[in-house]
Amino acid sequence: MSTLRPICVPCRLEMRCVKNNRVVADPAAASGPSTYWLGDEYECPECRSRVVVGFGEAMATEPSPLLGDVLHFEYERPEGGAA
Ligand SMILES: [Zn+2]
Repeated sequence: MSTLRPICVPCRLEMRCVKNNRVVADPAAASGPSTYWLGDEYECPECRSRVVVGFGEAMATEPSPLLGDVLHFEYERPEGGAA
């Protein structure tokens, strides 16, 4: 993992790590099942925006439930679309 922490652009503050080993999953597709990744989750102390950074290799197996909630990210949401 990088020693540099993310910086929140609007707040100009270093974000702080709130969870190591955050599980992120690619959505399953016709070409295959979900792929799981581990990253570190950071939060801005001011605006509470969160990001996940620092991914390594994809996990070889499905993650243990002990790692917590899986963040399923969306490829399909159009840019600028409503949240
Ligand atoms: Zn912020």
